[in-house]
Amino acid sequence: MNKTTISELGSCRDREAEIWGWAFNKRSSGSLVFLQIRDGTGFCQAVVDKSVIGAEAWEAAGKVTMESSVKVGGKVVEHPKHRGVFEIHASRIEIVQIAEEYPIAKKEHGVDFLLDHRHLWLRSKRPWAIMRVRDMVIRAMGEWLNDNGFIKIDSPILTATSCEGTTELFAMDYFDLGKAYLSQSGQLYQEAAIFAHGRAYDFGPVFRAEKSKTRRHLTEFWMMDAEAAWVGHEENLKIQEELISYIVQRVLDKNATELAILERDIEPLKAVKPPFHRITHKQAVARVRELGSDMGDDQDLGGDDETALSKEYGKPVFVEKYPAKVKAFYMKRDQENSDLALCADLLAPEGYGEIVGGSVREEDYETLLKRLEEFKLARKDFEWYLDLRRYGSVPHAGFGIGLERLVGWICGIRHIRETIPFSRLINRLTP
Ligand code: ATP
Repeated sequence: MNKTTISELGSCRDREAEIWGWAFNKRSSGSLVFLQIRDGTGFCQAVVDKSVIGAEAWEAAGKVTMESSVKVGGKVVEHPKHRGVFEIHASRIEIVQIAEEYPIAKKEHGVDFLLDHRHLWLRSKRPWAIMRVRDMVIRAMGEWLNDNGFIKIDSPILTATSCEGTTELFAMDYFDLGKAYLSQSGQLYQEAAIFAHGRAYDFGPVFRAEKSKTRRHLTEFWMMDAEAAWVGHEENLKIQEELISYIVQRVLDKNATELAILERDIEPLKAVKPPFHRITHKQAVARVRELGSDMGDDQDLGGDDETALSKEYGKPVFVEKYPAKVKAFYMKRDQENSDLALCADLLAPEGYGEIVGGSVREEDYETLLKRLEEFKLARKDFEWYLDLRRYGSVPHAGFGIGLERLVGWICGIRHIRETIPFSRLINRLTP
């Protein structure tokens, strides 16, 4: 019998075919058994009719438990009421393994229980849909970057110092060389790469030991850092809005089934096209205060501030020109006001908040040296980085996208822990 996948069932219409997968549900009604099967590519129903199937196969259908692995063959028939939905009228059932009683039953489970069983929960429809959107986001991101001249250069994960000089790093002993740290961003290495390639990006896991217990923070997450030579503030924002729009439109195009499973309202996603909104940090502060925040003039936006602000917009909004002192040492200052950094955070709309952080980088050697001092960072740790300003320095800019925040917004998932296969949070290290 012709083996196929559920996603390809339509091409076997009115013919015999076999699918290999898992039974995720079973309903019996007299001489009929309805097996719900998934095979990774999709979901379908197999109808087992006692009057037409052999005694052995009928017995097998009776034995199938939730999550048993099975091979089911039969005629592929279009659902009488739903066009484009195909089911199998089974003539053959082979049990590969009978599953023990499955812990994730149909009843509602709390999120902690589900996260404890994440290795199994991944099979459920909602995580299935989220992981497929995540995969598409990664693919679309690479497509756009490669089509626009960015070369993928992998950044190291083990580093000798922090990129931003914070204390929020995971440290370990490293042979005779003292401490090593898990990288919190590959940005500085991408800056080195652009002097070889003009435009470069990385994509990999990064680690933050900050004790944030919010719905937006993981201790391990995936970040894409992009960096480009000869690019200033305006072009940096343009690159970001084109990239994000491309990713969203690709997901809309390719993941309609997944977004429907997630019950995501796709109207706001359809609107994600350049140009995005832009406001200054100063305007943002004024607005969130009107909305009830008590944040100070020179503070970074807090999580609640971002939520409130981003609910005001139908498409992403850049918040530009933060006070330099709340941002990283490498950010170039605004020529019109040297207290401000030439930077922007991109907030996703509908209350999702920051998904991208970017800036123009300080390219002048002396100025950068001064910044290291101001930020109390040890010059010796940054000699190699300073070299980039000694040998052919050029204006350049870049940004970092947090994959899980982006996926969370696109999928309409409030808590970031569901957007990564196995989440690492301050209180979770397993499975
Ligand atoms: P926040 O202020 O929200 O903690 P950040 O300013 O520290 O974020 P950056 O260092 O600019 O963030 O990192 C770039 C991007 O990485 C952010 O825009 C966000 O999408 C993502 N990101 C940052 N921290 C986390 C985290 N702990 N978990 C998941 N994603 C994160």
